[in-house]
Amino acid sequence: MKKVLVLTEVRDGQLRNVSLEALAAAQVLAEGGEIVAGVFGADAASHAQVLAQHGASTVYTADHQALVQYTPDAYAQALVQLIELASPDAIVLGHTAIGRDVAPRVAAKLGYGLVSDVTSLEAGPVFVRPIYAGKAFQQRKFVDGKIFITIRPNNIAIGTPDASKTAVVVPVDLEIKDLRTIVKEVVRKTSGKVDLSEAKVVISGGRGVKSAEGFQPLYDLAEVLGAAVGASRGACDADYCDYSMQIGQTGKVVTPDLYIACGISGAIQHLAGMSSSKVIVAINKDPEAPIFQVADYGIVGDLFEVLPLLTAEFKKV
Ligand code: FAD
Repeated sequence: MKKVLVLTEVRDGQLRNVSLEALAAAQVLAEGGEIVAGVFGADAASHAQVLAQHGASTVYTADHQALVQYTPDAYAQALVQLIELASPDAIVLGHTAIGRDVAPRVAAKLGYGLVSDVTSLEAGPVFVRPIYAGKAFQQRKFVDGKIFITIRPNNIAIGTPDASKTAVVVPVDLEIKDLRTIVKEVVRKTSGKVDLSEAKVVISGGRGVKSAEGFQPLYDLAEVLGAAVGASRGACDADYCDYSMQIGQTGKVVTPDLYIACGISGAIQHLAGMSSSKVIVAINKDPEAPIFQVADYGIVGDLFEVLPLLTAEFKKV
């Protein structure tokens, strides 16, 4: 590829890790070609230095009020104009709520290809992506044309930053009009201090936690480990927690270094959201629970006894 554009994401003023992972993926795709980045929203230029250190030679910044919060039509209009300006051969985004929404919209509009939810890639380029809810992996080879790639967070290693690199910053004047949606207020339902989709450690509770209060031992351990707390759909359906915490086929997909499943049976739909985690620990009182088939470490026991013991031990470290 001669030129690869990475559309980055900023949340609460911070570049998301997945954007740096997307730049690492762009290095593989570009094979020595040019990498450029786009930043939408307020104070976009403040991220240029970090993006340069991770390989972007040009950073297009669009400080536009309509782009501070994501809306599909504003972002789609902005991305189309950015692509017209930068003229890339490939566009890389995170496989996040934003990337999953805007990439197919713009790919369809421009008649480009799309390979979504990529977990690894190599020169060629050849892309690997999970299918059948993570039961199998598919290889997709690039043939010709222009393509969008969305990469699954926490799968592609961020490259080592090169402090000597700088980028040309190009402010872009976008025309965004006829918006059908505007964001009036953002009411965020979070599972804790750590962003679930980018957390290095995730502790999840299932129906086995038995109540909303039953999540407290998970939060106690999360506090000690700097982890995010997630849930199975069973726990969400039972109203023990908010659906924003749901992990699985119809929830969030996470790939942390450590996933601790507490009182979760291990239904295929749950595994679809966490089976790529690097190390899986399952705590379940049923030794026959299917979760043990995917777990690297299993603890057969009552989560209300096991979790306080783990929390006490980790506090000593
Ligand atoms: P259960 O299956 O009831 O398991 C509870 C477990 O807790 C049991 O294994 C039990 O042994 C254990 N337990 C009980 N008490 C204790 C204790 N004190 N200590 C330790 N262990 C204990 N599910 C998802 O999670 N995510 C999805 O995205 C999702 N999408 C779906 C989409 C579709 C179309 C469908 C049909 C289903 C979907 N589901 C999803 C639901 C899924 O099939 C399961 O029903 C759900 O994952 C079960 O949740 P669970 O493991 O918490 O509950």
